[in-house]
Amino acid sequence: MRIEVVTLFPALVEAGLAAGVLGRAVATGRLEVGLENPRHHADDPHRTVDDRPFGGGPGMVLKAEPLARAIAAARGRLPAGAPVIGLAAHGASFDQAAARRLAGLAGFGLVAGRYEGIDQRALEALIDEELSIGDYVLSGGELPALVVIDAVTRLLPGVLGDEASAAEDSFGDGLLDWPQYTRPEVWNGRPVPPVLLGGNHAAIRRWRLMQALGRTWQTRPDLLARRRLSSDERALLEEYCRAAGVEPPR
Ligand code: SAM
Repeated sequence: MRIEVVTLFPALVEAGLAAGVLGRAVATGRLEVGLENPRHHADDPHRTVDDRPFGGGPGMVLKAEPLARAIAAARGRLPAGAPVIGLAAHGASFDQAAARRLAGLAGFGLVAGRYEGIDQRALEALIDEELSIGDYVLSGGELPALVVIDAVTRLLPGVLGDEASAAEDSFGDGLLDWPQYTRPEVWNGRPVPPVLLGGNHAAIRRWRLMQALGRTWQTRPDLLARRRLSSDERALLEEYCRAAGVEPPR
């Protein structure tokens, strides 16, 4: 997977690539990340990349031309036809389905904005789509770029130690993850649910599915509304709701 990031702050992206799952993916060559700084493509002595917004108002706007040159350089290192994606609070929601779609590509570009954002003409001419990582505003697109890179990289074959773990993570099948426990069996008077200690794998699977259904219903009912429940799943969720004293879905 080759990802190119166009950013005024490459060190921020590099820092996020240095450790953990992303660090290993880079070290093993499963992930290659290139960085392109629009400032290197500004042609005035001050390397100006921003200017005041037409129409007035606060802040500065990223100029189209340095960005266009930086994106062209980044595109040149991407596989043919790879999309270039702008990170923007006004973009479409980045979710696990989007991560899966991007993980199926040979590569893509990410453009991190700064200040008040990017000249709209550059977005229209150079960007294939725009993604938002959530309904809040960050100071720049570097953290969103790392969020996208991380979510996508976890899905690449061979990146996670346990191949099953990405599929079993939250959103893998439209549900949140079930609760996890590790040693000791009792911590501060709180025991691990006994079913997890019994070695009955069918019972453990059933308990985990019930917890995933219940947790999703309690904290993200919107996810359940988008997912068709089998009759077994419905029965498990009703059992969970009875035990937890919450209203089951109608
Ligand atoms: N004026 C813009 C607005 O109100 O939408 C905010 C610009 S923000 C301060 C600067 C840059 O941060 C944006 O160009 C974008 O690249 C990035 N950014 C901020 N919030 C984001 C989000 N929720 N998702 C993706 N990128 C975001």
